[in-house]
Amino acid sequence: MKFTEYNDCCGCGACAEACPKNAIAIKTDEYGFAFASLNESLCIECNKCKNVCPVIKNDYISSFEKKAYAATSIDPSSKNSSSGGIFALLAKKVLNIGGIVFGTEMNENFDVKVIGISNENELIRLQGSKYVQSNMISSFKKIKESLQKNKTVLFCGTPCQVSALKNYIGNNENLFLIDIVCHGVPSNQMFKDEIAYFKKKYNDNLIDFKFRDKKYGHDTVGSLVFKNNKEKKLLPYNTPYYFFFLKNDIFRENCYNCKYANINRPGDITICDYWGIDKEEPEFLKICTDNGFVGISGIIINTQKGISFFNESKNNLFLKETTVEKIQKHNPNLTEPSKKGENYEIVRSIYKQNGWTGVGKYYRKKYRVNIFMRKIYDKTPTFAKKFITKLRTNK
Ligand SMILES: Cc1cc2nc3c(=O)[nH]c(=O)nc-3n(C[C@H](O)[C@H](O)[C@H](O)COP(=O)(O)OP(=O)(O)OC[C@H]3O[C@@H](n4cnc5c(N)ncnc54)[C@H](O)[C@@H]3O)c2cc1C
Repeated sequence: MKFTEYNDCCGCGACAEACPKNAIAIKTDEYGFAFASLNESLCIECNKCKNVCPVIKNDYISSFEKKAYAATSIDPSSKNSSSGGIFALLAKKVLNIGGIVFGTEMNENFDVKVIGISNENELIRLQGSKYVQSNMISSFKKIKESLQKNKTVLFCGTPCQVSALKNYIGNNENLFLIDIVCHGVPSNQMFKDEIAYFKKKYNDNLIDFKFRDKKYGHDTVGSLVFKNNKEKKLLPYNTPYYFFFLKNDIFRENCYNCKYANINRPGDITICDYWGIDKEEPEFLKICTDNGFVGISGIIINTQKGISFFNESKNNLFLKETTVEKIQKHNPNLTEPSKKGENYEIVRSIYKQNGWTGVGKYYRKKYRVNIFMRKIYDKTPTFAKKFITKLRTNK
C-alpha cells in the first residue's frame, strides 16, 4: 500500500469527510499537527478531496461593496467573550429561531474542538478565543445533516475552517458563516503539554485556562481557574505557550503561507479585535468606555446575506460605521500571513528532542530578564505606568 502524506495541509479534515472511499485518514505529526494521509490504493481520483480543501480552493475575491463597523455588544453575555461579544449576539439570534450554532470549545480535558449547540445556556462553551488549533473532524457531516433537516446553522471559526465548510456544503441559504481574523494556530498537543506543566505546578487543581479575561481590560491577559473557584491572572509572558504564540513561533507550517490573511474573506461576516481604535475612532471608544463597555470589535460584512443577518442584531450593539482600511491598518493578518518568529526553528527542534519541558527551560533561560521586568511592571501602579510610557514615547 502506498500512502501520500500532505504535511503542508491545514488539517481541517474536510477531505477525509468528502472522500467516498474512506481513502483519507487524518494523522498527527510529532508536533501534534493534524495532516491528511491518502491511501493511494483506495483512491479513485474523483477529486472530491481537492474540491473541499481550503488550501487548494480559496478564491474569495468579490466585487461586493463591504461594510465595516466598530461595535461592542450591550448584551450581558458579552462579558464572556474575548472582544466585542459580536459572535454571541449573532449566535443568540440563530438559537432563538431553533437553529444550531457550531463553534470551538475547550473541554475539561483541554481538548479544543468544534461542537454544535442548540441551547442558549451552552453558548458560554463557545465564547472566548482559544489560541489553539481546533479539531473540526466529523463536524462537516454533522453540519450537513442539520441543514438537511432544514435547520438554520451558524458556523464561526478560522477562515480556513469556514472556507472548508463552504466548499463542502456549497451554497445554502440556511447556513451563515462568520470567520475570525486569525494570527495562526499552535497544536492542541503543545497546549496540553503546557497544561500538564501548570497542573504539576498547582497540584492538579487547574480546571480552566482563559486566554483572555475582560476583568483585566481588552487585552491578551487571561486567567488560570482552579478547583476552589479561585483565579490567577495569566500574563502572556508567564507561559512559554502564550508567549511563543504571540511571537509567531509555534504555528503550524501552512499558517505562514495562509491564503486567508487578506480582505478576501470566506465568511458572510468577518470579526476581529479593533486594535488601534484609539487612533481611528477615538470618540466612539470614549462613548464605549464612558458606558463601561470593554472590548471593541472590528466587523466586516462581506455578503448581502451577511448584511441582512447583521441588521437584525443591530439593536443590541453600540455601533459606528468605519472603513475596512482603518480596521486593516492595525490588524496585520488582514494584509499578510504571520511571519515566522525568531524562535521558530529552535523551539521546534527542542520540542522534538526534549518535549515541552525543554521548550519551557529554553524560554525561562532566554527571557529571564524580560520575565522579571514585566512582573515588576505589572505590579506598578497605573499612574506610574502612564508616566513611564510618556517618558518612553516622549509625548
Ligand atoms: C487562533 C486565533 C487567532 C486569532 N487571531 C486574531 C488576530 O490576529 N487579530 C484579531 O483581531 N483577532 C484574532 N482572533 C479573534 C479574536 O480573538 C476574537 O475571537 C474575535 O474578535 C471574536 O470576538 P467576539 O468577542 O465576537 O467573540 P468570542 O466569544 O471571543 O469568540 C468566540 C468565537 O471564536 C471561535 N473560536 C474560539 N477559539 C477558536 C479556535 N481555536 N478556532 C476556531 N474558532 C475559535 C468560537 O468558536 C466562537 O465562535 C483570533 C482568534 C483565534 C481563535
